[in-house]
Amino acid sequence: AIDFKWIRENKEAVAANIKNRNSIANLEAVLQLYDQMSNLQKEVERLRGERNVVANKMKGKLDPSERQRLIEEGKNLKEGLVTLEDDLLKLTDELQQEAQCIPNMTHPDVPIGGEDSSVIRKMVGNPPQFSFPVKDHLQLGKELDLFDFDAAAEVSGSKFYYLKNEAVMLEMALINWTLSEVMKKGFTPLTTPEIVRSSVVEKCGFQPRGANTQVYSIEDSDQCLIGTAEIPVGGIHMDSILSESLLPLKYAAFSHCFRTEAGAAGSATRGLYRVHQFSKVEMFIFCRPEESASYHEELIKIEEDLFASLGLHYKTLDMATGDLGAPASRKFDVEAWMPGLERFGEISSASNCTDYQSRRLGIRYRPSEPSSAIPKKGKGSLAPPKFVHTLNATACAVPRMIVCLLENNQQEDGSVIIPEPLRPFMGGLGSIAPK
Ligand code: AMP
Repeated sequence: AIDFKWIRENKEAVAANIKNRNSIANLEAVLQLYDQMSNLQKEVERLRGERNVVANKMKGKLDPSERQRLIEEGKNLKEGLVTLEDDLLKLTDELQQEAQCIPNMTHPDVPIGGEDSSVIRKMVGNPPQFSFPVKDHLQLGKELDLFDFDAAAEVSGSKFYYLKNEAVMLEMALINWTLSEVMKKGFTPLTTPEIVRSSVVEKCGFQPRGANTQVYSIEDSDQCLIGTAEIPVGGIHMDSILSESLLPLKYAAFSHCFRTEAGAAGSATRGLYRVHQFSKVEMFIFCRPEESASYHEELIKIEEDLFASLGLHYKTLDMATGDLGAPASRKFDVEAWMPGLERFGEISSASNCTDYQSRRLGIRYRPSEPSSAIPKKGKGSLAPPKFVHTLNATACAVPRMIVCLLENNQQEDGSVIIPEPLRPFMGGLGSIAPK
């Protein structure tokens, strides 16, 4: 339920927002299609009314010629209606397609501009100092026998990998530790389907098709591989009205993520940094609208605490409009220091999508107190349902965490120290030593 009336009434603000966010959305086309659709809808309703008038007249006593005339008139009206209803369906579909691209409205505090305009909210720790030549994760992985990119390239293609030995244990430990930490914060653990309908991808605000899509589609089907667990978790309450007492609903979903990474290249994306398949624990919250800003703060705090307990040097950014994508109203990214790259690299992001996804997915809740603005029809009358707000945040995206942990914790003797919190999840292993 995209609010086209609101878009029409706030045309200037929506156009400015599209421009600030570098979006490809075509507002003029949306408004034109919306007007065409509204006019057609009125015409369809007018014809339906006429058809009803004719049908009612036929119920009375009529002479045969008048009955015959009405039968003819009814038949013509019906034929006209079938054509117009068909046109209306096509137009509605076209409008939905065009409108899917319109991005969420931006939180007023978000900096306007491209990547360089993002604002640092927080900086924690310092880059580690090494008294020996620093190795990147690829070299460490080679020496410690942790990955096989060559075999993966043969078997699957570039940007795939096998993890081996302690790297496998590290992946499992990261996932299990993260899940156990976020469960302490009241998140319900989930695993999700990793193949979803394209329509659900679209309703979450992503483009499942087109030249620059990041989504793998499954041939001869209307299904895709998920790029993130945000999609199946967002869809879990699709087309429903939740009871207010259930909110907030907090989930922590483990899934694999599949991304085409169209347009991504360069040495910074070597090795595990940018791959086509990775595992991730994603937090997701459904909440009342007035609470989404404070849950956004809660999510970024959880992320920061997780990264701090792993000893990472990181900074948190309030991302600028050009970097928000379509669904987020505001996005906080965390970037951690990666000694191999000698720079910060993104390890997580936390987004408040307000009602952007819930409107498309049809997720509402019924406020328990009847709204005072609504006249009571009598005892027990219910307040109208409202759209929930949705938020999502990376608790742990495994490959870049492995990059960080290997590169930051490398020792002169070639070993890598395992951070304390992960050790119980790795059978007590304290370090990865050369074989
Ligand atoms: P996103 O859902 O795009 O906000 O990504 C969430 C996190 O997943 C990022 O912060 C990265 O840590 C990780 N990530 C995203 N894309 C990739 C990729 N192609 N390869 C490895 N990790 C990725």
